[in-house]
Amino acid sequence: MHEIDIDLIEMTLDVMKYAINRITDMDPHLGKPKSERELRSLVGETVTPSGIGGERAFELFRDVLVKASVPIDHPRHLAFVPASPTRAAIMFDLVTSATSVHGAFWMEGGGCIFAENEAMRWLVSLTGLPEGAFGVFTSGGTEANLSAMVAARGAWREKDPSKRSTRGLVITSAGAHSSVRAMAKVIDADVMLIDTEGRLGSEMLAERISLLTPEERSRFFAVVATAGTTNAGIIDDLEGIGKICRDLGVWFHVDAAYGGGALAAPSVRHLFTGIELADSVTIDPHKWLFSPYDCGAVIYREPEIARRAHSQGGSYLDIFYDEGARGFNPADYQIQLTRRVRGLPLWFSLAMHGTDRYALAIERGIELARIAGRLIDAAPHVELVREPSLSCVLYRRIGWQPDDYNRWTYKNHSDGFALVAPTKWRSHGVHETVARFCFINPDTTEKDIADILDSMK
Ligand SMILES: *Cc1c(COP(=O)(O)O)cnc(C)c1O
Repeated sequence: MHEIDIDLIEMTLDVMKYAINRITDMDPHLGKPKSERELRSLVGETVTPSGIGGERAFELFRDVLVKASVPIDHPRHLAFVPASPTRAAIMFDLVTSATSVHGAFWMEGGGCIFAENEAMRWLVSLTGLPEGAFGVFTSGGTEANLSAMVAARGAWREKDPSKRSTRGLVITSAGAHSSVRAMAKVIDADVMLIDTEGRLGSEMLAERISLLTPEERSRFFAVVATAGTTNAGIIDDLEGIGKICRDLGVWFHVDAAYGGGALAAPSVRHLFTGIELADSVTIDPHKWLFSPYDCGAVIYREPEIARRAHSQGGSYLDIFYDEGARGFNPADYQIQLTRRVRGLPLWFSLAMHGTDRYALAIERGIELARIAGRLIDAAPHVELVREPSLSCVLYRRIGWQPDDYNRWTYKNHSDGFALVAPTKWRSHGVHETVARFCFINPDTTEKDIADILDSMK
């Protein structure tokens, strides 16, 4: 027993030391992938009948496995949608695990869910949705979009029970995130894509709706608009789209998984006008609100509709709904039952720093995109494909073919210098491979951007 205790203490100290070193490291090692075969030969067997011991397992993690993984908060990781969790949120993620609380039901998680809901109250206030609107933290934007679509379909079928086994139809734009199409598949709904990667305007939507056959019109139950496309940071005409949905009695979902953080940025808040008309909104705190993975959120104008669509029944669950256990049950508003209290790290970090600090950090991402735009304008070998939008910048290296972009990405990555990936941009029907920056980390510097642009010379 004694030996085990020492092992446990050493392991705990190792882990805490690692965590402290990691969150104070301003320029972490940019890990690069190794093949499974290489990793196997470096690591050997780790899951064995008698265990390999905490010290050895941790050593393998620290010296081999982490080095073959990319830290999302590296200041020169500007690919996809990176992230940059605050140190407070990361430390509180450890606390959330150590606290061992089940986050599905108030009866078990009440105090922690209360804290999580304080963070949610702030998120809801950013949307401008009316009194009564509320939401829950999900595993991410995909689950938030799915939960919203299930609620939307539930509302549609409640209004007209004859639709109980009718296949639904959702309209969105080609710029919408892949998860919208994927989650429509999960609920077995059809998706009609309006063919634009740019801003979805209300006229385009109105025209598409006017072309629906009566059969399609009878199945059409939701529109998904995007507030900050993942590829280019474009915000659809939320106000115009919202009004059309209101007039038709169709559910209006706004996917702001990436862009939602910018609701807290005064310089761009006006671009989101109309989001307050939404029936549901997706925001990913693990993207632009500096939470560790995984933390998404879905907000409903009328949470009661979502509750009717999601609440699970079962004799083993009855007690949670008993008079004596009454309270807000996050499990009632999304597809997941057992869940960690994943909003806690966001709550702690917000409580510690205050919301003003968040606004500043988000504004910095937008400013970095403008700085990148200026540097690109000033350099002869690159040019902007479109003006920066939110914190996304699309630009081309004059004369490059798709292969050149790929080689450049791999070289920067394998040099441990930067992770910047190409994307495609379509205009006038032509797909072009271009380079893309997405800024989240406020510690990225102007020099980082200039150095990356130099690497394309
Ligand atoms: C990232 C993203 C998603 C998916 O979110 P996950 O957290 O990766 O599940 C959905 N919609 C948009 C607009 C996104 O940017």
